[in-house]
Amino acid sequence: MAESPYFENVHDLINRPGEMREREHDFAVPAQLGEGLISVPKGALMHLSVRLESVHEGILATAEVQTTAHGECGRCLEPFDQSLQLEFQELFAYSVQEGDEYGVHGDHVDLEPPLRDAVVLSLPFQPVCRPDCLGIDPVTGEKRQQGDVEVASDEIDSRWDALSKFMTTTDSDDE
Ligand SMILES: [Zn+2]
Repeated sequence: MAESPYFENVHDLINRPGEMREREHDFAVPAQLGEGLISVPKGALMHLSVRLESVHEGILATAEVQTTAHGECGRCLEPFDQSLQLEFQELFAYSVQEGDEYGVHGDHVDLEPPLRDAVVLSLPFQPVCRPDCLGIDPVTGEKRQQGDVEVASDEIDSRWDALSKFMTTTDSDDE
């Protein structure tokens, strides 16, 4: 059975305050992070860069995470990807005093719970495919384009016309 990519072996750091080590690795996310309209799906690529420092009370982990969330736009309902970049820091204590603390287990620490919390906190509550998404036209039920709004210039309108002609001639399946 493969070891969790979130495990970090710290046996060379335990009870050696001042020692520190860094590790970077890439892996496929083994289980979905987050729920709702946007989440990091199982199998998404993640780049994890972690610095592990031995301190008096335990192991201090400072991590940088890069991955891609997959969501559904809250306005137009279209699926989209959003790159995520975040950092978190967590102390893994030798002796856990309270329920919300993380501990050193044997010779390793498990970054998964604090990483999951940090990812979930960084995900938007109301994801949109782009900040100016106009959503769905309540009359036609179609996704509204920039050219549909009155403030758009003629120049943009004519470009959309050209594009739609191009798309109907080359992709008849759309009709
Ligand atoms: Zn949208």
